[in-house]
Amino acid sequence: MKLVLATRNRGKIKELSALLAPLGYEVVSLEDFPGVPEVPEDGATFAENAVKKAVAVARHTGHLALADDSGLEVDYLGGAPGVLSARFAGEHGNDRANNEKLLALLAGVPPEKRTARFRCVVAVATPAGEVWTAEGSCEGVIADTPRGEGGFGYDPLFYVPELGKTFAELDPEVKNRLSHRARALAGAREILARFKDGPKSGSSPAAS
Ligand code: IMP
Repeated sequence: MKLVLATRNRGKIKELSALLAPLGYEVVSLEDFPGVPEVPEDGATFAENAVKKAVAVARHTGHLALADDSGLEVDYLGGAPGVLSARFAGEHGNDRANNEKLLALLAGVPPEKRTARFRCVVAVATPAGEVWTAEGSCEGVIADTPRGEGGFGYDPLFYVPELGKTFAELDPEVKNRLSHRARALAGAREILARFKDGPKSGSSPAAS
């Protein structure tokens, strides 16, 4: 059975394919379906965005589709940047500007009030419009200076007290094992494994 990853991001395709291949699906991506239009990520929640992308791609391709959406929630900022994580400072994907804005907004805020989490929602949809979601999160604290060279996005500011390191200081293998994305994908793998045995044997559509 074909499974279409709702992304054109090569890094994501590689990571997701490796994690999903053992399930026995033929994993392909939007690179194999150039005609599928971009789906705007304009939802109010990660789940809304992930569901929207998975449903659109499943409908357009006629195959089972998997989409994800993720971001950072900072408690002191009422959950911001949230779904706006990629474009927090205005320009999409400008990690340096996003991190500078975050540090400026948290200037003088003590460590105990700098709690935050990365969150990821993965959605799996059928061409008929049935959809299931799985969520993963990872708790941390926003550091007051960037540390580490690895990762991307907010990783240099995302400090995990139990590890004594920021995400950017972690070995990529370690990050990929405990990240919000890995945790959401573990749930998605369960959905996909059940789905292979028959769509009605798992959780109900849209259940997390
Ligand atoms: P997307 O889910 O790929 O659209 O990611 C949205 C944005 O959330 C990224 O551009 C990053 O700013 C942030 N983000 C998501 N996951 C991570 C992560 O693992 N590390 C750092 N930033 C992340």
